[in-house]
Amino acid sequence: MAAMTMTEKVLARAAGRDAVKPGDNIWVNVDVLMTHDVCGPGTIGVFKQHFGKDAKVWDREKVVIIPDHYIFTKDAMANRNVDVLRAFSKEQDIKYFYDVGTKNYKGVCHIALPEEGHTRPGEVLLGTDSHTCTAGAFGEFATGIGNTDAGFVMGTGKLWLKAPPTMRFVFHGKMPPYLMAKDLILAVIGEIGVDGATYRAMEFDGDGIFALNIEERMTLCNMAIEAGGKNGIIAPDQVTFDYVNARNAGQRPYTPVKSDAGASYIYEKVFDVTKLEPVIAKPHSPDNRAFVSEVKGTKLDRAYIGSCTGGKLTDFRAAAGILNGKTVRIDTFVVPATTEVARGLKTEMIGGKSLEEIFLAAGAKMGDASCAACLGGPSDTFGRLNTPISCISTTNRNFPGRMGHKEAKVFLASPLTVAASALKGEIADPRDCLI
Ligand code: SF4
Repeated sequence: MAAMTMTEKVLARAAGRDAVKPGDNIWVNVDVLMTHDVCGPGTIGVFKQHFGKDAKVWDREKVVIIPDHYIFTKDAMANRNVDVLRAFSKEQDIKYFYDVGTKNYKGVCHIALPEEGHTRPGEVLLGTDSHTCTAGAFGEFATGIGNTDAGFVMGTGKLWLKAPPTMRFVFHGKMPPYLMAKDLILAVIGEIGVDGATYRAMEFDGDGIFALNIEERMTLCNMAIEAGGKNGIIAPDQVTFDYVNARNAGQRPYTPVKSDAGASYIYEKVFDVTKLEPVIAKPHSPDNRAFVSEVKGTKLDRAYIGSCTGGKLTDFRAAAGILNGKTVRIDTFVVPATTEVARGLKTEMIGGKSLEEIFLAAGAKMGDASCAACLGGPSDTFGRLNTPISCISTTNRNFPGRMGHKEAKVFLASPLTVAASALKGEIADPRDCLI
């Protein structure tokens, strides 16, 4: 049998075949389908339309419903969307529904999924959100799909997919303290462009990757879609297994896979992390790459630390390390991705102070766990850019209007760079703060 990449192996298993190769069209059995408040109602509509108003989802334990986007708003349409999820989850007796306003509420779906044990190596996870690729950090095939496909999966547990070819990005070396996974992925996207990985798997490899904790690996895979990637993926190791085994919902057995030696890649690029500098994406595209040192001093109005990309405990630990004992010069918004992260902000300490205490003492505003301003949202959304200001953000997209106002400028950077910039009121290099 020909050597296969991890992505090919996961898809082969899900298709009940010994092997697949890039370009093969296959029916795959889906292990988890996730939907949220933005796309859930549409997905449910498609499901009902095609399978009948009394139809049942294919597996009530494999459909995971996570309201997270437009949650804390007075907007009637947004509230109605959550009501649709509530009614459907009740009607279908959905086992994993993380409803807002209850103790089950979690926050951003891509972080809630692993925290609640829905990500497992070797599985296929589909979601009605482009950043579903985040879960590739657990060695699984995870990708975003549209409402029509999701409605079909809801009814059948299957989807017709084309196996993608794989690009391999190898990172060697010990990560310097001023770099984070966000810098690595912005470097990759800057290198290949926002369409450089269109319908391709992006496999991240090398000792530089396996030295990262699981949250940093999630940041890397999260932004695969910003290069057009079908999925991002990292081989599971002990770090992965420790995390997954402690949380695995339903203790489902899983079959981890790794790429075969000799597997073929359509592209390969090797990075030496010791030689990388902090990277930033200028407005208005994630591939508009610059080194932070090149744009240092650019005036800013706002800093934003949050989202599935930059709202995890690792991100806040990094930002708090820089903000500790100092005061921000511009409006700075801190939004934990999930309620678990929010609890961590109260218990995680630096020098006897909790991360939350550090952020509040620095003058930052703290929001509730959710997507908040990452996707703009209704005008009463916490942190939304309602005027044409300049913002540096740990989020993943900076297209015009993404965080609210169409003429606002968004710079994407690591939590270290965002925190350093919040202190100066202009783009700042974290190396100047860490020395
Ligand atoms: S935090 Fe942002 S990128 Fe992540 S799921 Fe929410 S809106 Fe999408």
